[in-house]
Amino acid sequence: MSTEQRVAIVTGAARGIGKGIAERLGRDGLHVIVADLEGAQAGVEETVTAIEHAGGRATGAVVDVTDEASVDALVEFTAEKAGKLDVFIANAGIAQVESLLDYSSADFQRVLDVNVTGVFYQYRSAARQFIKQGGGGKIIGAASIVAFRPFALLGPYSASKWAVRGLTQAAAMEWAEHKITVNAYGPGIVGTAMWDLIDEKLGAKQGLAKGEALAENAKSILLGRVSVPNDVAQLVSYLSSEDSDYVTGQTILVDGGIQFS
Ligand code: NAD
Repeated sequence: MSTEQRVAIVTGAARGIGKGIAERLGRDGLHVIVADLEGAQAGVEETVTAIEHAGGRATGAVVDVTDEASVDALVEFTAEKAGKLDVFIANAGIAQVESLLDYSSADFQRVLDVNVTGVFYQYRSAARQFIKQGGGGKIIGAASIVAFRPFALLGPYSASKWAVRGLTQAAAMEWAEHKITVNAYGPGIVGTAMWDLIDEKLGAKQGLAKGEALAENAKSILLGRVSVPNDVAQLVSYLSSEDSDYVTGQTILVDGGIQFS
């Protein structure tokens, strides 16, 4: 087995932005470990097949990012199967639309478990593996425009993405001595299942028909169109490559010009 080919893990890669990132990294020539929940393995297989059909190399895997043993096992599986790890994309995330007055503590905790604690487990596991390998490596997290300015009715989600931005900065500070870079991407409004849900729930709260909440929010996009996963994948491709070796601690917006950092 050759250890020349670079190896990337992408979590939440059964669909949406994670799928777009996994496909792009496959085209970039990396061996992609396509990871998602047990219940999302049909989507994982679709992503793996798409990468292979484009001439790339991919391996499916199960992970629940809220379970630290599961995250550690994913990294171990990758080291065994692919020989090493070069890039970890902590993409998995969930959103929930609800006013802060009505938010239950269980729901608040669930958002933090996936979007913050899960990112911590992934960053830590990747960094431990990179240090074991002698240093180097790239860690990339999923933030959002709401890491700079929240959306109303997405309060805990917004707070979780601010936390990803903070954790990304702290990890960059602590792991620079190991030549590990840590950055995050901040998408705007990407037409995925997550925005289908946000549109439906915002619409219900604001008395709007299907698609109207999305259209209303899309008016703030300078470049005049809703984003697609490939917009984000292009930035992540750069952050995964040696072209970004001098970039660390940054949360980079890729939102068509909704928010300025
Ligand atoms: P999505 O809901 O379409 O896909 C998310 C994926 O994560 C799913 O495949 C899901 O199974 C997986 N996942 C959820 N919980 C998990 C867990 N505990 N362990 C492992 N996998 C889990 O979402 P998306 O729109 O593709 O978003 C991807 C990332 O980008 C998320 O972190 C999201 O917060 C962020 N983001 C999305 C947008 C957008 O407009 N869609 C904007 C900014 C940021």
